[in-house]
Amino acid sequence: MTSQPTVKTLLILGASGDLTGRLLLPGLARLVARGRAAGLRLVGAGSDPWTPEQWRERVHASFEAAAGSATPEGKEALQSLEKETVYHQLDVTAEGALASLLGALEGPTAVYFALPPRISQLACESLRPEQVPPGTRLVMEKPFGSSEDSARSLNQTLVRLVPEDHVHRVDHFLGKATVLNILGLRFANNFLEPVWDRHHVEKVEIIFDEDLALEGRARYYDGAGALRDMIQSHLLQIMALLAIEPPATIGERDLRDAISAVLRASSVPEPYAGSTRRARYTAGQAGGKDVPDYAREEGVDAERGTETLAEIQVNIDNWRWNGVPFILRSGKAMGAKRKEAVVTFRPVPHLPRGFTGVDSPNKLRIGFGPDTLRFDVDVNGPGNIFSLSRATLETELSGSDLLPYGEVLEGVLAGDPLLSVRGDTAEECWRIVEPVLHAWQQDSVPLEEYDAGSAGPAAWPTAVPGD
Ligand code: NDP
Repeated sequence: MTSQPTVKTLLILGASGDLTGRLLLPGLARLVARGRAAGLRLVGAGSDPWTPEQWRERVHASFEAAAGSATPEGKEALQSLEKETVYHQLDVTAEGALASLLGALEGPTAVYFALPPRISQLACESLRPEQVPPGTRLVMEKPFGSSEDSARSLNQTLVRLVPEDHVHRVDHFLGKATVLNILGLRFANNFLEPVWDRHHVEKVEIIFDEDLALEGRARYYDGAGALRDMIQSHLLQIMALLAIEPPATIGERDLRDAISAVLRASSVPEPYAGSTRRARYTAGQAGGKDVPDYAREEGVDAERGTETLAEIQVNIDNWRWNGVPFILRSGKAMGAKRKEAVVTFRPVPHLPRGFTGVDSPNKLRIGFGPDTLRFDVDVNGPGNIFSLSRATLETELSGSDLLPYGEVLEGVLAGDPLLSVRGDTAEECWRIVEPVLHAWQQDSVPLEEYDAGSAGPAAWPTAVPGD
């Protein structure tokens, strides 16, 4: 698959923002340092009256770390990008402002909306189709809308401006290596596919627990919560990859069609008090730090009842998966970091009499970042050869030499939307979680508590790490 840039200019809107400084520019730097963004121009824009030097300093600070490990050509590419980068002050919501900047840049241009979601939407609404030069790519950050309706209306605004395959809805969580690792595992191993269905799989869990607490991000997180922040935007995508039908190719069309088919078949079963759980942390110790009650964290409105740990069961109502629960869970301030998908197989239909010990179900665990594979199998011994015990076969899967945002940018620059969330899929993900959000708002599901640094409320079945 080609990774030759087709984009000439990367325009970052929100040049002074947190995302740009902490993730975008370092991701770009590593990409350039590896010689994988030849000939690219970088343009920053923001509402601050920055001098060109101020912007260049910001770029320099982010490029410095990557320069250390760059090849001589990579170093040169970094220096030249830094030297030639320019900054424009503009209010992107002002009539004609973004359009005239777009018209002045050497295209094709990728416009990265590193802006608050509302501002990105206004900026897109302010553009008329004839003001967007052919070949322009629009890169949209999460959250993409806040409901199925708002995602649909944003999609309608975007496709008025550029074709769907020129819209990149960023999901930096699922890097290219992880996507390909899952596809390789599933579709290049003949022994797996025949058992990858309702007859052999009992349940699939997708867990993303972090030990970090709020880390000063109340302004964003308190309005979002774990269900919107992680499950709606990222874990449903992983679920879809684990559940898709075998695609004919790993091109964006085949893969994104298959993902879309899974999500269209997915829903959270009622009653939600049985299929969903939510909780928020109280004071404790997590990630080596003292953590206060979430409700007392700076900037949090305790009355809002924002969850910091969420778990939902998703059913995929199709031939392959009918009756198999997919459990998606994500939490903050947890005792242990845990980022994995666990496929639990059904017990054997008959264990020959004469064996002793425990016949545990096989489990396949796919760990994310770094990607790993572990397969729990029953073996005989040690000692008594009639006694069964557990052995784990494990390996590391290949990673990427880019940072997550470098992978995102590489796809954007090459004009490959493989890693982008397609418009219909963004709407489906909201459709799946919206009834749950509504039920939680009505308090139909209790908001439980867990100590920061614990494994979550003890009664939750997923609260047993290592199981
Ligand atoms: P910030 O608030 O840090 O930055 C927003 C930027 O937008 C600022 O540079 C601001 O400039 C600029 N801006 C605001 N209004 C205008 C305007 N009218 N015209 C031009 N520029 C404007 O936000 P983040 O960087 O944190 O987030 C940006 C996007 O990325 C959001 O959609 C967020 O959800 C998403 N995101 C962020 C992550 C993160 O870790 N930060 C992670 C994943 C996604 P000024 O200050 O001059 O107004």
